[in-house]
Amino acid sequence: MVASSVRVVLRARPSDHGTQINYQSDKKGVSIVQQKVIEGRPGVQQPGAQNYQFKFDNVLDTASQEQVYEATAAEVVQGALEGFNGTIMCYGQTGAGKTFTMSGGKQNFKQRGIIPRALGQIFTEIKSRPDVAAKVSIQFLEIYNEALYDLLDITTQPHEISIYESSRGLVTVSGLRTAVVGSEAEALALLFEGETNRVIGEHQLNRESSRSHSIFTITMELKPIGEAPGDVLVSKLALVDLAGSERVSKTKSEGLVLREAGHINKSLSILEQVILGLGDKGRDHVPFRSSKLTHVLKNSLGGNCRTVLIANVWADAAQTDETLSTCRFAQRML
Ligand code: ADP
Ligand code: MG
Repeated sequence: MVASSVRVVLRARPSDHGTQINYQSDKKGVSIVQQKVIEGRPGVQQPGAQNYQFKFDNVLDTASQEQVYEATAAEVVQGALEGFNGTIMCYGQTGAGKTFTMSGGKQNFKQRGIIPRALGQIFTEIKSRPDVAAKVSIQFLEIYNEALYDLLDITTQPHEISIYESSRGLVTVSGLRTAVVGSEAEALALLFEGETNRVIGEHQLNRESSRSHSIFTITMELKPIGEAPGDVLVSKLALVDLAGSERVSKTKSEGLVLREAGHINKSLSILEQVILGLGDKGRDHVPFRSSKLTHVLKNSLGGNCRTVLIANVWADAAQTDETLSTCRFAQRML
């Protein structure tokens, strides 16, 4: 088996009130002690706590947003400016910090996440290159219960959006608004619009955002101009905030919630099969088309693409089981 081409980085957010997880880490791995409290007797531990060890490409425990960007995204964005497609994905339970990592916090400028920083890096680079004519465009897609929604145009209905694959395997999503942006400010305004629409979808149309995947795609076309005009470099950067990975208890939920959970479990497990299939060169069939998420990302995974998976965990003792489950998923991706 060939190791997968995905770089896997663990990011832990602090516990804000409860007890900190029993957890130790260094730059390359974590060790987590799972201690189960005896039911009905808070604070009393069951005997025989288990210790689990995981290794990753990088562990970012108390890292700032800037450090996270430098350690995960900066290189992928640079690659995209050189013509390589790239994908950065945040995986983890609801509340673990996926949206904080991808889009950022609202409190101050320092909290801005990967998407605004990537836009900054792209436009800074383009401005410094008078030898290229650049065209940058943006799409913002939400996948909820295997239906596609346009976060840049809420009037578009899911049946108007479809995934189209050419005979050469080039995937495009048709029916989505594609916004050409001339500056970082314009692009940020669209990010904000899309995030607002994600919230509107949640409140007015009952689309629980923690149960949906969102994909912010930046397409770049860089054409050399001047004395030695050359080929146009086209590349795509997919910035993905995945649906919450938590297992929904079958006894506690029914109807819609259970259906959502089924779709999420299926698309996350197909994502896993696709990534493993790409790493294992012996396998010729990679099931991209088995879920909307992997089909949309087909040209952004594998091959020459650069992929980073950020596993977001919540370092709270009460979240130990979900943290272990996220670490196991992330470990399998290496
Ligand atoms: P998710 O998208 O995975 O459901 P969020 O990104 O919404 O989780 O994060 C949940 C809460 O935790 C938010 O209030 C967010 O601001 C906070 N948070 C997440 N990550 C961090 C972090 N690294 N440092 C401080 N606060 C964080
Ligand atoms: Mg979120």
